[in-house]
Amino acid sequence: MALKASNKINRIRTFALSLVFVGIFIMYIGIFFRTSPIIMTIAMILGFIFVISSSVVYFWIGMISTSTVQVTCPNCNKTTKILGRVDACMYCDEPLTLDKTLEGKEFDSAYNRKHTKS
Ligand SMILES: [Zn+2]
Repeated sequence: MALKASNKINRIRTFALSLVFVGIFIMYIGIFFRTSPIIMTIAMILGFIFVISSSVVYFWIGMISTSTVQVTCPNCNKTTKILGRVDACMYCDEPLTLDKTLEGKEFDSAYNRKHTKS
């Protein structure tokens, strides 16, 4: 197993958060190039784009959150959200599925993409 099971919404959130930090970091680097207005402007614009795209990703999370299914995790008894056919618990990474035919099978995120021919 190459990929560890992890919740998709959590992963997207982590991605959005890292975009913010990358954006701030690029803008911070731009400060060191105060003597060169061109480099500084480019760094500022680039950093700004990263921060903006992060808020776009956050908005996107809000959109896809409406299509998630809330379930109670059988492992930790917390309410978690499932996105797609298989997903992992947000708290304990327990693999969860909405599809009865996939129950008991090895966690594989590929189930989300292609329809299994059974
Ligand atoms: Zn859990």
